[in-house]
Formats: sequence, C-alpha cells, structure tokens
Amino acid sequence: MITVLCGGVGAAKMLRALRLVVDGSELTGIVNNGDDLTLHGLRICPDLDTITYTLAGLNNQETGWGLTDESWRVMKELSELGGASWFGLGDRDLATHLYRTERLRQGDSLNEITRDLLAHFGVDITLLAATQDPIATVFETVEHGNLSFQEYFVLHHHDVVVTSIDILGAQKARPSQGVLEAMANAERIVISPSNPLISIGPILALPGIRETLMARRSDVVVISPLIGGKALKGPADRLMEELGLSATSRGVASYYREIASTLIIDNSDSADRSSVEAEGMRCIVTPTIMSDDVVSANLAEVVLHG
Ligand code: GDP
Repeated sequence: MITVLCGGVGAAKMLRALRLVVDGSELTGIVNNGDDLTLHGLRICPDLDTITYTLAGLNNQETGWGLTDESWRVMKELSELGGASWFGLGDRDLATHLYRTERLRQGDSLNEITRDLLAHFGVDITLLAATQDPIATVFETVEHGNLSFQEYFVLHHHDVVVTSIDILGAQKARPSQGVLEAMANAERIVISPSNPLISIGPILALPGIRETLMARRSDVVVISPLIGGKALKGPADRLMEELGLSATSRGVASYYREIASTLIIDNSDSADRSSVEAEGMRCIVTPTIMSDDVVSANLAEVVLHG
C-alpha cells in the first residue's frame, strides 16, 4: 500500500501520477479537511472534491476547481437575490454538496459518503478525510483580524499579511478510522506537493500523526511544491516567508525534516541540493511539474523507487 498525504490541486496531480504506475487498490489518500466549510447549509469539502474530480478526469481546467462542463445558473439567481455568491458553486458541483449534506444529516459518515462518491465518479483509489471531527484552519491577518480559510483564500484572494495560522479543534480531533493504520502499514508514505502550512499542516496537527510519521521516517518522501522558490499557484511561497520559513527547498526541508527522510525537488532547483542535505534529508532532483503523463509517470516512479 502507498499512503499519500493530500491537500487539493498538488495532491490531485500527485495521486493521478501515482495511479499511472500502480493499481488504484494500492493507493490511499489522507486528505486535509481544515478548509471544509458549511455554506448555504451545505457541507463542502474542497480538497476531497478536487481530488475526486481530477482522478475522474472531470476537473475544471479553466477555474482550477470544481467540475468541467459547468453552468452557473444557481449562483446567478442567488447573486440577484442578494445571497452570498463569493464562493462559486457550479450547478453540477452543487449536486455533490447536496448529496453529501443529506447523507451526513441521515447519519452516514464522511468517509462512507466519500467512498460512494468515488465509486460514482469511477475512481478506484481510497480517500480518507484526515479527521471526521470538526477542525478549522484560521488565519490571523494584519488587515482583517481572524479569517476563516475560505474568507482568506477566496474572499480576500490570499492577498493579506498573515501573522499566524491556527488549526482550531485539531488537538481534540481524532484521525479518521484507518488513517494511522494506513501510515503504519504503507510501503511508502508520500507527502504531496501541497501547501505545507495550510494543506499538510492541518493533517500533521492531529494527535498521533507526527509520531506515526516519525516512526516511519525512512519511508516518507516529500515532493516540494516550490519551483524556483515560487508556488505554481496559491500562497505557499508567501506564507512560508511570512511565517518564518524561507520559500526555498531548504525551507521545505526544515519544515519536514523530522518526519520525512527524502525531499524531491525540481530540476530548476538543482542548486539547492546541498542545502537540503544540510537539513539532514536525502535530496532527489528530477522534473516535478506534472504537466503531462510522461513527466507525471516518471515522477511517480521516482517517488516509489528513487
Ligand atoms: P489547494 O489546497 O488546492 O491549494 O492545493 P494544494 O495545497 O494541494 O496545492 C497547492 C500547491 O501545489 C502549490 O504550492 C503548487 O506550487 C503545488 N503544485 C501544483 N501543481 C504542481 C506540480 O505539478 N508540481 C509541483 N511540484 N507542485 C505543484
């Protein structure tokens, strides 16, 4: 079994890459849910949905989130009514949230519902929400005080100065059933090229996760989300600088060094090898921008066997 710690877009690409070279039954994703939210009474799990849609080949390439071939009639009506429309939910995507919310109301667990959504979309891997207890990533900002994840990310386009990040509820939350086992029993544990602080951080904040990873450190591989010191998309680089980690391969290494033994960095960062090794991690340099199947499959092979 290969166990993959996941945020959204970077993780979806990594799982898709791994799926090119191993059977779906071999893959388990442990997915961040610090950015889940309830809006219009609907339970929305952005990272679980991004991964499901991407592995189904139905992700919306224009927006970078949601489903392909989408329409926006509900949002348009809602906005004309004066309802909250800053968080875009397409008509097709809404069906997922309606389905999830109603089943949660009936007492089914998030992981049961996720399993059924994966089957519906024809995706043959396992996804487990990191926790099924309530957690929430909160940002303290200079401009607006405390912001919820989606206020920070979508409403303010992450264009604010962040002074600290808190994962509310994490200390009391329990990892979902099967999460610690999936890490303890995996041949390899992969930390996706996701945002370290706000995609992987909330998973690491749950009780027992860091200890389990530390015990497996020699089998834990990280793919850096930075290319030439920049995130491909999103605020990873800016946040790392604002919160005292440099936005470099060395900064990524210093964040993960206690729980992972290997850091994979992109060819464009090859000059960083010695600084990663200085943090006590093995460094592998290879193309990591998963723009096509050849690069993706090559990266997956390096992740598994490099
Ligand atoms: P979000 O929750 O949807 O914002 O997504 P993640 O946290 O999973 O991913 C965001 C990070 O993924 C960004 O820092 C990107 O730089 C990184 N990323 C996206 N695509 C790739 C890729 O193909 N290769 C690498 N190395 N990083 C990527």
